[in-house]
Amino acid sequence: MELKPGLSALVTGGASGIGKALCLALAKKGVFVTIVDSSEERGKEVAGLAEKECAEFHSGLKFPVVMFIRSDVTNTGELKAAFEKHCTTYGGLDICINSAGIGDYVQFHNDQTDGSKSWRHVVNVNLVAVIDSTRLAIQAMQTAQKPGVIINLGSASGLYPMFTGPIYSATKGGVVMFTRSLARFKRQGIRINVLCPEFVQTDLAEKAAASSIARFGGYLPMKLVVEGAFELIRDESKAGSCLWITNRRGMEYWPTPAEEAKYLLRSSKARKKSLVTVPMDLQIPHSFEKVVVHTLSHNFRSATRIVRTELRLPLKPDHVLLKVIYAGVNASDVNFSSGRYFSGNGKDITSLLPLDSGFEAVGVIAALGDGVRNLKIGVPAAIMTFGGYAEFVMVPTKHILPVEKPDPEVLAMLTSGLTASIALEKAAQMESGKVVLVTAAAGATGQFAVQLAKLAGNTVVATCGGYEKAKLLKDLGVDRVIDYKVEDIKAVLKEEFPKGADIVYESVGGEMFDICLNALAVYGRLVVIGMISQYQGEHGWKPRNYPGICEKLLAKSQTVAGFFLIQYAHLWQEHLDRLVNLFSSGKLKVAIDPKQFVGLHSVADAVEYLHSGKSAGKVVVCVDPTYAKQPAKL
Ligand code: NAP
Repeated sequence: MELKPGLSALVTGGASGIGKALCLALAKKGVFVTIVDSSEERGKEVAGLAEKECAEFHSGLKFPVVMFIRSDVTNTGELKAAFEKHCTTYGGLDICINSAGIGDYVQFHNDQTDGSKSWRHVVNVNLVAVIDSTRLAIQAMQTAQKPGVIINLGSASGLYPMFTGPIYSATKGGVVMFTRSLARFKRQGIRINVLCPEFVQTDLAEKAAASSIARFGGYLPMKLVVEGAFELIRDESKAGSCLWITNRRGMEYWPTPAEEAKYLLRSSKARKKSLVTVPMDLQIPHSFEKVVVHTLSHNFRSATRIVRTELRLPLKPDHVLLKVIYAGVNASDVNFSSGRYFSGNGKDITSLLPLDSGFEAVGVIAALGDGVRNLKIGVPAAIMTFGGYAEFVMVPTKHILPVEKPDPEVLAMLTSGLTASIALEKAAQMESGKVVLVTAAAGATGQFAVQLAKLAGNTVVATCGGYEKAKLLKDLGVDRVIDYKVEDIKAVLKEEFPKGADIVYESVGGEMFDICLNALAVYGRLVVIGMISQYQGEHGWKPRNYPGICEKLLAKSQTVAGFFLIQYAHLWQEHLDRLVNLFSSGKLKVAIDPKQFVGLHSVADAVEYLHSGKSAGKVVVCVDPTYAKQPAKL
């Protein structure tokens, strides 16, 4: 639903806290607002403030743009009267926000009363009244026969116990499950969602123990809660959705698809939808081609060649055969071909040759071993094991990542997307409200890092080389793009971010690493993602010394953390689901470099193109154009 002047909203608990902030934010968009609250003094004060905001959009109306209605939400008669007054004044109800709530400061187990003035009252305000108000809102929206959105205020304590407030936690858990169970109203055009923020600085939260607030990383900015509510209003795909907002992780839908999958079998309809049609004439050949490393060298072209190899069937019982459609190109392909990934294991690396190259691929399952029960032929799948630069790959089922489509965008979410998603969460420990600096930001992994940092509510600064890349980054929502071909990175950072960057996602290495380290804020975390500028020197990778680094880090309590995706395989499926979810709901864009590389003979060209510094987004090789779709360009 587009938030525009002339819509109307009823907000319970609108006289204070989150309810008040939402009333003012809605009024700022020209939305007519009815504030329902038991506190007359505060309610009228908020109504006065909201009226000033909303009046800017309207003139000459015969009705008030904002109303305050005194009502106790636990009194169903009073609540019903408030809804009726709203609907007769504004001709219906577009948005209802149930924000009225109270804390639980009683020791219910010591309570000698019937609880009507203590714990039972908390249940009545926080849960029973939310159910009642949702009921009245649904009826009002059904009568008006117009689409509507209802947002119930849950809490992070509805997802995780609040040990200092068990009754409060119970009511919020109830609100979460009640709301999630109402997803089906979407069919009638009514979307009901629940917002679960952690502590926001309101009167209610101030009574909570300071120690609990500290454990959650401090108060959440109200701005983020308003953004979350607006997202639930605007995003038509959200119904029965629970948006969890934290200082540490930003906005996140709960449960994640991976968690959700544990409760339900996917419907046959959903499963059918996810299958791509594999032509019946798909023949499994007797042999296939792949790119192998035959000589160790950081020069990928001279290190590799295409070989034809026999395709032996039957497969091992727990193996599947993946027909590759797209293979992903990575900066580190040259580190693989130079043997860097295998050095240090004590073996003579040359004894491992030839090595199957390529880190990732998407395609369809073409054959199954006898023991495979959970996969089917024709199902799209991804792999993130060595050997992606091939027409076919045989892998144990544990290496198969089921995906909806074997598309370049999904491929980009594998190594590149997962690196950004997991590194920002685990190594950078990303929160909201920070300054996040991303280098090589228009590259395959950088594009994900900037968007995820932005989605989590941060100010994002990004470096890149070239006008087109800068344009892409602006389109992705970056706050400050530094095109190093026209601006001096050091000078810009010093002048515009004098306190420094709290998080740096650093992929370039060399001089860029030095610049980033010098621009790191007190307590800052610099995550070493890679050092692409060092991979292809004349004689290969030369490790660098960083004299004085300990003194620098010590002086500012800073951290330099390494991140290597292979060590986080246990998180791949969960983060891939998150990325796919963000992509399908339109919150995440995936840029694929438009230069086309078709067939295995183009792999070396593609690797060199990536290292030329000209690419933007993910570089992909289409291994089999018969099944390919046109690469999407932002
Ligand atoms: P990418 O970012 O798409 O790489 C291309 C970009 O890197 C170029 O467009 C250029 O961007 C920059 N670049 C290329 N060569 C350079 C050079 N010689 N000097 C300076 N900048 C250069 O590639 P990617 O595959 O996504 O990899 C990016 C980085 O992430 C690499 O360091 C890679 O090793 C690392 N990575 C790490 C992990 C992990 O697990 N740690 C996983 C995946 C990738 P600008 O000129 O616009 O800056």
